[in-house]
Amino acid sequence: MSNDIEHPTPATGAVPGAARVKVVDGKATIESPEYDGNPSSLVRTANEIDRDKPHPLYVVWEITLACDLGCRHCGSRAGPARDGELSTEECLDVVHQLRDLGVREITLIGGEAYLRDDWHIIATEITRCGMSVGMTTGARSLTQERVDQAVAAGLKTISISIDGLEKTHDAQRGVKGSWQAAIEASKRVAASPIRLATNTQINRLSLPELPALADLLSELGSKAWQIQITVAMGRAADRPELLLQPFELLELFPLLVWIKETKLEPGGVQLFPGNNIGYFGPYEHLLRYGGHLGAHWTGCSAGQWTLGMEADGKVKGCPSLPSNSWTGGYVKDLTIEDIVQNTEELTHISNRTVEDLWGFCRTCYYADICKGGCTWTSYCLSGKAGNNPYCIHRAMQREKEGKRERIVKRGPAPGLPFDHGLFDIVLEDAPEREGEEALVSGKSLEEVLQLATKDPSIWDKQSIIARLKTS
Ligand code: SF4
Ligand code: SF4
Repeated sequence: MSNDIEHPTPATGAVPGAARVKVVDGKATIESPEYDGNPSSLVRTANEIDRDKPHPLYVVWEITLACDLGCRHCGSRAGPARDGELSTEECLDVVHQLRDLGVREITLIGGEAYLRDDWHIIATEITRCGMSVGMTTGARSLTQERVDQAVAAGLKTISISIDGLEKTHDAQRGVKGSWQAAIEASKRVAASPIRLATNTQINRLSLPELPALADLLSELGSKAWQIQITVAMGRAADRPELLLQPFELLELFPLLVWIKETKLEPGGVQLFPGNNIGYFGPYEHLLRYGGHLGAHWTGCSAGQWTLGMEADGKVKGCPSLPSNSWTGGYVKDLTIEDIVQNTEELTHISNRTVEDLWGFCRTCYYADICKGGCTWTSYCLSGKAGNNPYCIHRAMQREKEGKRERIVKRGPAPGLPFDHGLFDIVLEDAPEREGEEALVSGKSLEEVLQLATKDPSIWDKQSIIARLKTS
């Protein structure tokens, strides 16, 4: 269920020397008075010892591709299990290898992780090995029994995917009733000792519903909201009308700041912008965790601080990266340490320089720090990393020139898990907007702000169909 994946946020690289984490007597501790109690804030952040010898701290592990939803934006095109998914014994060996590598946190995903009968055995072993374990889920069948299993296995966080109000969510998830199931599961988790989090895809359907969704999260008792822009991967690559245009970031970012300040902070929900919500400009310090301390985005951490694994044993630097180009090896053939240290697919990203960037990113003021933003996002558009139009700094620079960028689909995705199509980035004159009413994904701001959590959707049926059509 990539596009749904819990991405490595807060990015370890995004808090360089922010000193929220200190090592005292060989143990990492949080020093900042701002610490929110989110255990991930501690374990995913590199401390001084880690920086001496970088190694993966955080792993997102797809333990099966089997899924009980049919999401229209699913990057891994989940449904049936993969051929050759790892056995229980092989999974437990992976857990031990990750422990020995120094990994501190693992998020289990699918497909739907709980559809493996042994998911709680794997989770229990992760806990026993001293690592933090969580799960990201669509939660269609996250029953009380499974929540109880998760508590017994020591899960710290369950992040449930909610992509808008009821009809908007159900249309994207491909199953009527999936929104109601996610809400009921959220209540079960909130009533348990496990920390409830929520994750949301931002696209042209969900964008105008974000303010109402923020209210809903407060009502549900969610402690954290991870948001990320839907990337042109897998089934989302088949639906270009669903994808935000890069110039729509000019609507998204001020809206996010307003939501954070007026709804999330009073409601006790912490915002975690995913690694493709970037970069710099007037918003980073307002949105990104640690930004108020002077921390900022410092580039993609795939392979250095993070790993992604697929259910058949593929190892990648990031769970979302396309499998065909970014798999370093299989755990059936090589040790994970060997893959991490010696394969070009994993070492390449941390070795990236400005010379590897192209297009606007190559000339950007922030190029040597940012290195083109999220590899996943840029690679899935162009088949080549290092030129990322989904950037607020870039959108604002273009706006100053009276221009804007639009993505146009040029070639289809082949139809495999974690695949991508090809898109052109077109530079065009920005339409005159002065004096016009503010719009959010084509909806008036007034309509957006009036939307209530009990409303089924801001969209009519035809608009939803139009945005989900394939091409
Ligand atoms: S334009 Fe590219 S290099 Fe510059 S900040 Fe944006 S993503 Fe980073
Ligand atoms: S590709 Fe890099 S920046 Fe993007 S989600 Fe993965 S680790 Fe984060």
